[in-house]
Parts: sequence; C-alpha cells; structure tokens
Amino acid sequence: MTIFSKIIEGVIPSYKVAEDDNYYAFLDINPLAEGHTLVVPKKEVDYIFDLDEKTLAGMILFAKKIAKKMDAALDCKRVAVVVLGLEVPHAHIHLIPLNNESDVDFKKPKLKLTPEKFQEIADKISI
Ligand code: 5GP
Repeated sequence: MTIFSKIIEGVIPSYKVAEDDNYYAFLDINPLAEGHTLVVPKKEVDYIFDLDEKTLAGMILFAKKIAKKMDAALDCKRVAVVVLGLEVPHAHIHLIPLNNESDVDFKKPKLKLTPEKFQEIADKISI
C-alpha cells in the first residue's frame, strides 16, 4: 500500500481539502507555498498516464474545483498544476498557488508550518 493510500484510508493523518468516491485531496506536508495541495485518485496507480481515461479526466475536473476555491480563498494570481516526481508510486497532481513562476521551483526550501497553520489553510480551501 502506498503512503497516499494510507492517507486516504486515514491510517496516516492528513489535512484534508476534498474527497469524493474516486479522489482525495490534502495539503502537501512540505509545501512550496501556503495551500500547496496534492490530488490523488483512490485507485492506486503509479503513473498518471496509466490511469484509465475516465479516472484521468475526472481527476482534472476534481482538481479544477479545488483550484477555483484556492483562487478565491488565497492571495494568488493563479494555481499551477504540476505532475512530477518519482518519490511516491501513486499518481498525484500538485496544485500550487502561484504569484511568480519561481514559486514552482521544487529545489527551493519548503515552508515549515505549524499544525494550526496547516489546519487554518485546509479550512480555508476545503470544498
Ligand atoms: P513527488 O513524488 O511529487 O516528488 O513527491 C511527493 C509529494 O508528496 C512531495 O511533495 C511530498 O512532500 C509529499 N508527501 C510525501 N509524503 C507525504 C505525507 O506523508 N503526507 C503529506 N501530506 N505529503 C507527503
């Protein structure tokens, strides 16, 4: 079972942003910006382009709903959509609040936020 499946099942805690029958969204624990969110399918598939068409299309539409909420609730110009990484073998989309293109530099030091701050952000953008 991947770490993201454990998060979906609640075995590992997370700051939940959204959930439906097929997808789960939660705050990245090492955020590049306040509101950095991961969207994952409940189906455990490693590579996003190995997802079946319906699941892949639905994942983008699910991410759109969260991004629109982030646009409204956070101080950002847009929300960046990033798929990268070899770390966790479970497809995921990063949604990152964007004010400058450099906000999406994964080599930058990550933010250190308190549990209270994570919870406050999750409450702000949850749908
Ligand atoms: P990637 O595979 O996209 O490089 O990295 C996976 C992302 O998942 C990273 O941004 C990392 O911070 C995040 N991540 C890894 N483990 C956990 C976890 O246990 N909880 C949360 N919320 N995020 C995690």
